[in-house]
Order: sequence, then structure tokens, then C-alpha cells
Amino acid sequence: MTIDISLDTVPHWIGGAAVASVEGPRAEIHDPATGRVIGTVVLGGADAVDEAVVSARNAAAAWADTPGPVRASVLHRFRVLLHEQIDDLASIITAEQGKTLADARGELARSIEAVDVSLSVVQQLKGEYAEQVANGVDTYSFRQPLGVCAGITPFNFPVMVPVSMFAAAIACGNAFVLKPSEQVPSASVRLAQIMSQAGLPDGVLNVVHGGVEAAEALIDHPDVAAVSFVGSTPVARAIYRRSAEAGKKVQALGGAKNHLVVMPDADLDAAADALVSAAYGAAGQRCMAVTVAVAVGSAADALVDKIADRARAFRVGDGAASGIDMGPLISAGALDRVRAALERSVEQGGRLIVDGRDRPAAGDGYFIGPSLVDRVSVESDLYRDEVFGPVLSVVRADDLEQALQIVNDNPYGNGAIIFTGSGTAARRFSRGVLAGSVGINVPIPVPISWFGFGGWGDSRFGDDGLNYDGYRFYTRSKVVTQRWTEPTPGLAPHFVAAGRQ
Ligand code: NAD
Repeated sequence: MTIDISLDTVPHWIGGAAVASVEGPRAEIHDPATGRVIGTVVLGGADAVDEAVVSARNAAAAWADTPGPVRASVLHRFRVLLHEQIDDLASIITAEQGKTLADARGELARSIEAVDVSLSVVQQLKGEYAEQVANGVDTYSFRQPLGVCAGITPFNFPVMVPVSMFAAAIACGNAFVLKPSEQVPSASVRLAQIMSQAGLPDGVLNVVHGGVEAAEALIDHPDVAAVSFVGSTPVARAIYRRSAEAGKKVQALGGAKNHLVVMPDADLDAAADALVSAAYGAAGQRCMAVTVAVAVGSAADALVDKIADRARAFRVGDGAASGIDMGPLISAGALDRVRAALERSVEQGGRLIVDGRDRPAAGDGYFIGPSLVDRVSVESDLYRDEVFGPVLSVVRADDLEQALQIVNDNPYGNGAIIFTGSGTAARRFSRGVLAGSVGINVPIPVPISWFGFGGWGDSRFGDDGLNYDGYRFYTRSKVVTQRWTEPTPGLAPHFVAAGRQ
């Protein structure tokens, strides 16, 4: 059975089944390309959260006891099914989030990569062994799952962020309760359904919809051992505090202001191409979007011209149509926020080279074109705030050291990039910059999932990142020291003659 996402109401997924109470609050789901209401989603409160957590708790022990290779085989089947359903899932993402279908398929590819990594994290639980640390005593360690883990996820990656959380958590032997963004709820339910088809026992993965009330009920629930959050910085900070106060393990990834430094010896065409795709792709609604170009020395004027030409040629439209570079923003509220940020940037001295507000609005969708603002002051709101839209600021610096200072004075530290022809400059930058993911001559340095992912500073609260770091976050280490008092003759290692090893 496949849930029809054209159904009026997107249900919770609890205990291996779709659950939607007839009564209770709902939120509207909008198609950002038309502004039209395309469905509603149930908004759970403490009761729905409790039902989901109890279902997870009841499933957790048996799943933790399921051998690692068997758990991995379920994820392997999930990977195969995910791959078969790429087009279907991409359409769901585009319908609710607005990004282009090509971008949505890219999100699916990264999600599949995260599942691949979850297959290998299972072996990371195996630990270490030291024999004969005292007479008759051996010490060994291994990692065990935590029980019920919770994930609270943002609107901009409706599949990739949930998958990078729950695939690792479930591979490690935990049960999981996901609360996705209420703005893009359908994909999560489809993912839970695919996991079920892959053979995941009922209750190991649950989805409960809602807003702040559901998120807080999840964090506060006594049976939730760990909280993973991805979203904006103010919420990340609040969730980190609330979870830590309740004694839970917590990782909270927040917002960003990612800088791309362009040195005078860089290939300026390559840098401009990178800036345009990194700043305007997905309408700037990526946590790794570049929002500040730091133009060093003589690079500045030519770079601004090259970006402006490309920004004007960027094709804006319905993400489901072909030949589109960038879809709409997520909501009318987001559109108002970006428009207001542009207005303020001019009042505060920025030079608006390309004004995205000039693009004709397509119907009632939440469209705005790419904007380029030159000579932005680091004191201005445009520089300091995360706008989360297709707006690129240009800041000028005299040399690499000043550029690095600008990047490092910013409180966020998600990603930072340098374009240069100099290995020395690249090395100075990558060693000195305060950011979790660094790029050299690449537009968006999200590492392959074999590495952990997460920022520094105000971009992440808590130690572990997503993806490969998941095996650490979703488990805890146990160290066993054992002594067997029975005499055990012959336990000492047997040495053999040379040549027989
Ligand atoms: P958001 O912070 O508004 O919401 C994220 C989630 O938190 C949603 O599920 C929402 O329902 C819930 N939520 C909102 N307010 C809450 C509160 N007060 N208490 C508890 N839960 C609450 O973020 P968004 O607008 O959905 O997503 C965009 C943000 O996410 C941007 O800031 C972006 O940079 C960030 N993001 C960061 C990363 C990363 O890896 N660092 C990745 C993707 C997105």
C-alpha cells in the first residue's frame, strides 16, 4: 500500500501505520510555485508525541538485540527502494519545497549516500580489546545504542536531513521518532513507509508532525535519550539548552553565513560560476549556500561584473518545469523577509547591482530573482543576518589576512571557501579559518558522507555532526574489564618458530 500524497491530510506514522485523528489542529501545506493550498498536515501535541515515543520504546529493545548485519540488511533494502523511487520522491520534494526537480534528485543522491554510510557505521560499534592488562585480566570496549532517539528537521532538505539522522540511528540499533518541518511533511511519511517495505519492524521509525509544541514534547519526553536538530540558530540554541538541561545527548545544527574568498590569482570565471550556483541555487535556501563573496584586491570589480551577468541570466520559475535554475522561496513570509532585507541593505549603504525584486512575479508563487549587493558593510543587517534567500553580498578586502579576519569575525562557522591559484594561500586559509567544512576551488564544500558534517561557532551546538559522526552520537561506549579466576593453563600466547606465522 502506498500513501497517496494527494490525500487532503498528511498523517503521522506510528507503530508501522498511518495515523490521523479526525479531530485536532491542522496546518496548510502550500505549493510555493503557485501559493495554492495543496493539502493539510495534522499537528500533533503531547499526546501524539507520547504515542510515537511509546511505540518506539516498545520496539527499541528487540531492535537493539537484532544482530548488526541483519539491521544493515534492512537499510540495504531501504537503499534499493529509495533508488527505485527517486523520481517519485523528487516530485514530492519539489511540490512542497519548491526546489527544481534536478536539485531534488541531487538531494536524493546525497540521501542514498547517507544510507551507504549507515551500512558501514554498524562495524564502528565493534570497539577495542586489550588482553592481559593484569594477571588473568582483559579489557575490551564496544558501543551500544541509546534507546529512543528523536530528530527535528528543517524545511529545506525534506529527505536528506531526516535520512542522515535516522539511517545512522537505526543502523546503530536505536528506535527513532522524527518530527519533520510542518511546511514539507509528506516526504517523511513516504520514507517511513519505504523503511517498512524494506522490513523494518513496526515502531522502530515513527513520524509525528507538528510545530513547536510537538518538538518540545519530544525533547521533554522522559523516554527520549537523544535529540538531533537541524534548523535555524536561535532554535538550535534553545533546543540544545532544553535537551542538555534534561540530561539528554544533543546535537543541534544551526544557520550560517558562508563566505567565499576570491583571491586576485583565482580563475575569476570559475569563481563567478561557483558563486552564482552556491548563492542562488535552491533559491539560496541551503545551509551551505554562499551568502558573502569576499573579493580580495584587484579581483573585485571584474568579479562583480561577472557575477552580475550570470545572475541576470539565471532562470527563475516553477521547479517542476524544465530549464529552470531556481524555484520559489518556501513561503510568503520568506518572500517578505528577503524583500525587506534588500530594502534595508540599500538604506545601510549597500549598492544593489542586481535587484531580484525586478523579476516579474509568476502568478501567486513566492518568487524572487537573484540579487547582488556590492560594498556591503560588515556592520549592516544584510551582512549579519541569515537572510536564507537568493541574495549575495560582496565585501572587499585588501589581502588574504584581512579576508580571513572578516570570515573569522563572523559568529557562524558552517562553511568557508577560497578560490585561488596559490597552494600557499589555500593552505593558510584552510588551516586558519574557523569553519567546519572548508572548500578550495569548489562552490559548496559539503563533504561526502564518509566524513562527519557540521559547522563551528553559532552553526552547531554539541560535539558530533551528521553522517559518519552518527555512530558516535547514536551510541555510547562501554568498557568491560574481566577476570576469570579459574586456573587457565596454556592461555599465554604460543610462539612458533620463524617461518610459520
Ligand atoms: P526552523 O529553525 O524554523 O525550524 C526547524 C525545525 O524546528 C522545524 O521542524 C520546526 O517545526 C521546529 N521549530 C521551529 N521553532 C521551534 C522552537 N521554538 N522550538 C522547537 N522546535 C521548533 O528552520 P527552518 O526554517 O525549517 O530551516 C531553515 C534553517 O535551517 C536555516 O537557518 C538553515 O541554515 C538551517 N539549516 C541548517 C543546516 C545545517 O546543517 N547546519 C542544514 C539545513 C538547514
